[in-house]
Parts: sequence; structure tokens; C-alpha cells
Amino acid sequence: METLLACVAEQALVDHHCHGVLYRDADEATLESMLNEGSGWPGGSVFDSQAGFAFRRLCPPVLGLAPHAELADYVLRRAELGATEVSKRFLVAAGLSAMCVDTGFTPEPLTSPAELGGLAGAAGHEIVRLERVAEDVVAAGIGADGFADAVRSALATRTTPAVGVKSIAAYRTGLDLNPERPSDPEVTAAAGRWLAAQGTGPPRIADETLQRFLIWCGVDLGLPVQFHVGYGDSDVDLHRCNPLLLTPLLRAIQPTGTPVMLLHNYPYHREAGYLAQVFPHVYVDAGLATHNLGGRAPALLAEALELAPYGKFLYSSDAFGLPELYYLGAVLFRTALSGFLAAGLQDDLLTERTVVRLTRMLCADNAKRAYGLGDQM
Ligand SMILES: [Zn+2]
Repeated sequence: METLLACVAEQALVDHHCHGVLYRDADEATLESMLNEGSGWPGGSVFDSQAGFAFRRLCPPVLGLAPHAELADYVLRRAELGATEVSKRFLVAAGLSAMCVDTGFTPEPLTSPAELGGLAGAAGHEIVRLERVAEDVVAAGIGADGFADAVRSALATRTTPAVGVKSIAAYRTGLDLNPERPSDPEVTAAAGRWLAAQGTGPPRIADETLQRFLIWCGVDLGLPVQFHVGYGDSDVDLHRCNPLLLTPLLRAIQPTGTPVMLLHNYPYHREAGYLAQVFPHVYVDAGLATHNLGGRAPALLAEALELAPYGKFLYSSDAFGLPELYYLGAVLFRTALSGFLAAGLQDDLLTERTVVRLTRMLCADNAKRAYGLGDQM
């Protein structure tokens, strides 16, 4: 493995989009099911992939094993150390100063932002998922008539300690959203249709008018609004997740000055970079894809930074559940960034001073500024 530029190796990262980590031990089946967005198939392993080989090369040494250790030995070592120790080792080794944690997706119990920050030795901040707040309001028995007011008031309460909100419209309706802010009567009518069509399961919002309503509620709060963009699990219709579909909405949000954070973006990271260049309030990252592309992460970062202004690119792991993913995201990002900056030095496009400045911006300062995180290191 290449040696990192000293400034990159020493720079703590702000992870502006991640989730909580599992409380429980992860056996081989759990590792297989959580390594990436896919799942195993008969006779196959998700570890036969870029993410899998990056994991096998980079993770065992953190637990005191040789690189490329057999998965069975790895799982035994993991169990021997216990979930808390394993989480602590990977999270500390990731070298983070702050984490912005999406608390809206909890198919099983996960650590809170404060607990995650405690394990990592970093500040843990919360990102509130808009759809989850609306679904909680409905689960509490609010009908269509009171829906708009109840959501606004629940959001005001839920975001008091938070640093941002997140929309998963990409997962529910796609990103081809009408830019207009819906009126309260439109919201009431849409909520009525949605509630009437509800089955017996937990409420799941998937209505274009209501997604837009939630996004505008987020914009009104003035907190950065994160959007899931691009690559995700099989719930996503990827062709409806191209960030260019958001262009009219981005134009409509621009006068408010509320920052819009385009998350993940792969394979539309070049499109996202374009949007960050032409809209002053748009920021981008390459989370999730960084560890999924493994050895190809340097190519991803270089492409993402073709058009994206360096002052509006943020680091994110989009790690979920497995502590290894926070570590892999961080190591692969640092490797990619170091190679990118070293090539700039080599070509005499960048000076040593510029390299130090860009490292701070891309790893931490852009996120601190956008989310108002203050100067914790
Ligand atoms: Zn995520």
C-alpha cells in the first residue's frame, strides 16, 4: 500500500453522513448481508467483489490478524474481542473528529449519535430523516386534517439538537419532483389519499406531494437538507435517482440559501459535481461508493472532483451497522485523496501549501462550515 502524504494521514475526518453501528456481534452471515447493498446468491459470496477484497486486505490487521485472513478466522477473532471492542477499534482507527448520523433507518437497534461518537472519540451529531418524522406523526394517530401542522411542529422539536435533515424521496418517488411548494390544502388532500391507501403495516410515505412538502419543511428550517442520490439497495429505481432530475427543485431552493447536500451520487458523481459547480448552495460527496469501489476509489474521487468545487466536496462513509465500513470508507478516502493530491504536486498543478489547505477543506472544514459544527478537532 502506498504511503499517504503526511498532511492527509494526520488530518481527522468529519463524516457528514453515516448511520449507527450494531450493538451485537456480527457472524459471517451478518458480514455477508451488510458488506454492500446486495445479498448473496446460491454458491456465491458478496466478498468476491471490490468491497470484499478491500475488507479482507484492510480490516484483519485492526483486530490483530494478518491481511487477507480467512473469513472464518476473522469471525472467530471478532467474537473473541466482542462487539464493543471491535467497534471501538475500527471507529478510532478511522480517525474521525465528528460524525453526522442519520437516525431514521433502524431495521434493528443501532447506537445513537452520542454512543457512536463515544466509541469513535468524535462528536456525534444527529441528522433527522424527514419521512420518518411524518410516519411517526401518522403512527401517533394524526389524521389528514392535522397532518401539515403536526409534521411542522414535530420537525421543529426533533431538529432542536440536530445539525441537518435528510430526504429519501429517491427511495420513495424518485427525484423527478415538482419544484413548487405545495399548499396546505394540497398537503391535506395528499395525506388523505395516502392514509386511505394504507395497509396494515407501519406507515410508509411514498407520495410526490408529501415528499415535496417534507423537503420544503426542511428548507424552511434552514438546516442543510441531505438527499439520497444514486446507488442504493434494490428498493431504489436507480434511473430515477439521477441528481439532474432535481435541477428544477435546486433552482427553486437557491434563493433561500439553505444548503443541499447530494449524498453518494455514484454512478452520477460527475452529474452531481456539475450541479455543485453551477449552484452555490449544492454540496456533494462520494459516500457508500468509496468502500464499494475498493481499489477503484481513487478513480471515483478523481472523477467526482472533475467539476465539483473543492470547497463543496465533503467526506462521508455512509457506513451502516458494521464498524468495518466506517474504517474502510476512511482509509480508502485518505488513500484516494493522497494519490490525487500527490499527482497534483507531481504535475506542478498544486503547491505543498495548497495541498495542506485542500486536505483540511475536503476532510473536515467544508463539512464544519456547511453544518456549522464549530472548530472541534
Ligand atoms: Zn445512508
